[in-house]
Amino acid sequence: MTEPLISARNIKKYFDVKGGKLKAVDGISFDIYPQETFGLVGESGCGKSTAGRTIVRLYEPTDGELIFNGQNIYNLPRKEMQEVRRDFQMIFQDPYASLNPRMTVEDIVAEPLDIYQAWKTRAERSDRVIELLRLVGLNDEHVLRFPHEFSGGQRQRIGIARALALHPKFIVCDEPISALDVSIQAQVVNLLKKLQNELGLTYMFIAHDLSMVRYISDRVGVMYLGHMMELAKSDELYSNPLHPYTKALLSAIPIPDPEIQKNRKRIMLEGDVPSPINPKEGCRFVDRCQYAKDICRKETPKFEEKKENHFAACHIV
Ligand code: SF4
Repeated sequence: MTEPLISARNIKKYFDVKGGKLKAVDGISFDIYPQETFGLVGESGCGKSTAGRTIVRLYEPTDGELIFNGQNIYNLPRKEMQEVRRDFQMIFQDPYASLNPRMTVEDIVAEPLDIYQAWKTRAERSDRVIELLRLVGLNDEHVLRFPHEFSGGQRQRIGIARALALHPKFIVCDEPISALDVSIQAQVVNLLKKLQNELGLTYMFIAHDLSMVRYISDRVGVMYLGHMMELAKSDELYSNPLHPYTKALLSAIPIPDPEIQKNRKRIMLEGDVPSPINPKEGCRFVDRCQYAKDICRKETPKFEEKKENHFAACHIV
């Protein structure tokens, strides 16, 4: 069995807010294996983006361990963490906001190289930028242009080129396609797949679009209100979901066959995701679950293996 590239153990990220603690991520554990894509899904406010940022230590964790290369990177002092950061990169949701409008594409893509002093001559710097632009499907003549001269899809390609500059091993893609036109989304996802094959990358792919997550991910985790509710191989999760929340999410995906679509039962999710401030004991999904029992309000269900390699947190599964 291959060793995981990353092991997240009981990761928590709380924020102090007026009235208590906002428990955005509240004890999630999972492994990510080399060259796989681990999808993380859930509605807005479920904590998936905070989880991604805490994994790469953009946010300082409240608790937990993140094992990478045999060491817990949450214990590393700042200087050693700087070195690990070369291996961990992030692609952000909004390509409009994540690129400095006053910088040329060359300077944006070279920014990580500059920070890590990863070039000896200007020519070497320029050559690496051009290599990266070609890798993501942009051209040499794009180097001196500014972000506003590009389409949304092209800007996301610039963000991807920047993320690749230091030859990372692991990239957190935080909703990388949700700000893009539908017609462009598949192009960016296909580019990410191509780069994964060519460069041996490992991804954590965060999204709320379940169809796209299925397409790109090897395994998928489903988050709800700071907890991991279910985790399985992609095909298994989509064809045989165990958790009532996952079932409800999947029932909302349209099927492109009018006959099947007409006859299938949609599970309605009542209300919004409740507030993660001072959450009560018990299952976080209890107020929206049609199967809830007394025990669900009293005891938080354990996240455990229900079938081989298929994990869920639910008292009735
Ligand atoms: Fe529903 Fe109870 Fe399972 Fe939570 S533990 S999902 S409330 S049945």
